[in-house]
Amino acid sequence: MRIEDSKLKAGLETLGVDLHSGTSLAELTSLGIGGTTDLLRITKHESIAHLISLLERHQVPYKFLGGGSNLLVGDGELPWVILQLAKPDPEIVLAGNLAHVDAAADLGRTVTYCAKHDLGGMEGLIGVPGTVGGALRMNAGAYGMQIGSYVREVKLYRAAERRIEILRGHEISFEYRHTSFAPDDMMLAVTLELPSKPFKEILQGIRICNEKRRSSQPLGQKSAGCIFKNPPGGSAGRMIDELGLKGLSVGDARVSDRHANFFVNAGYASAKDMLTLMSEVRGRVEKAFGVQLENEVVVWNS
Ligand SMILES: Cc1cc2nc3c(=O)[nH]c(=O)nc-3n(C[C@H](O)[C@H](O)[C@H](O)COP(=O)(O)OP(=O)(O)OC[C@H]3O[C@@H](n4cnc5c(N)ncnc54)[C@H](O)[C@@H]3O)c2cc1C
Repeated sequence: MRIEDSKLKAGLETLGVDLHSGTSLAELTSLGIGGTTDLLRITKHESIAHLISLLERHQVPYKFLGGGSNLLVGDGELPWVILQLAKPDPEIVLAGNLAHVDAAADLGRTVTYCAKHDLGGMEGLIGVPGTVGGALRMNAGAYGMQIGSYVREVKLYRAAERRIEILRGHEISFEYRHTSFAPDDMMLAVTLELPSKPFKEILQGIRICNEKRRSSQPLGQKSAGCIFKNPPGGSAGRMIDELGLKGLSVGDARVSDRHANFFVNAGYASAKDMLTLMSEVRGRVEKAFGVQLENEVVVWNS
């Protein structure tokens, strides 16, 4: 979708929104798949309510992009624009055991910055790409921990209320790759409460998690991490592996040879290729195990 209207363009400029026309989502997502649209980069959190009403007045649909590491975006010209927060400076402010972090901050950098200041707990998140906002939305986690456990409060734009609000951690439900935020809530910032730990000890935990990732995941290839959620008490990867589906391909979309729940773009895969592969694997797993796999990757296909 292209923003052509001059009044809308002027309105965006007034709100401190940078318009990047004709941006390729393939370049902004870790899967390297996705068509083209306009990208609106938001430099001032306070302008969000005005921005949303401006877009609604001009009937411009939008979606919210973090780091693009858990997304499968459709092909061709996309029927909505993309909103993304610009990175502020500083991204992280520490006060005792509290870390105030902007939603646009890189998750890995946040983990290491806190570690250097003897704040631990998030070692498992090292190697999870993307932003802190995306991690909150997805309740990112690994190796027995999840970001939600450390959330003291979240500053967010609540589309239903049309205003910025602060939610306390206990008001939010964080489950396995699922949160109680409304689909159109936008994370703006979070306060994490982290346990004190000596840097050396945190570093040791980080090294162990890095090693586990390196030995089991196709890290040099384009992917969105695990494509399906694990069913209760089971492992999507193990079921796919048991069916001998590693290496199964549709065009350049391929089930990784290294980790059966990582689907990789081995060249120039389209969204259609990837969706066909997902549907094929889901069908075979259901037939063999009677289990319906749910997407972990967020699909923006329309
Ligand atoms: C190699 C690799 C390894 C991975 N390993 C893990 C892992 O171990 N554990 C894990 O949980 N995940 C993992 N992932 C998946 C992914 O990195 C996480 O889900 C990550 O938290 C997504 O963050 P993002 O900023 O990239 O979000 P995006 O992919 O940009 O967006 C994901 C969803 O969050 C929404 N969103 C993003 N930012 C905001 C915001 N500020 N406000 C509201 N909504 C927002 C988007 O609209 C979308 O619905 C992995 C991915 C890769 C490529």
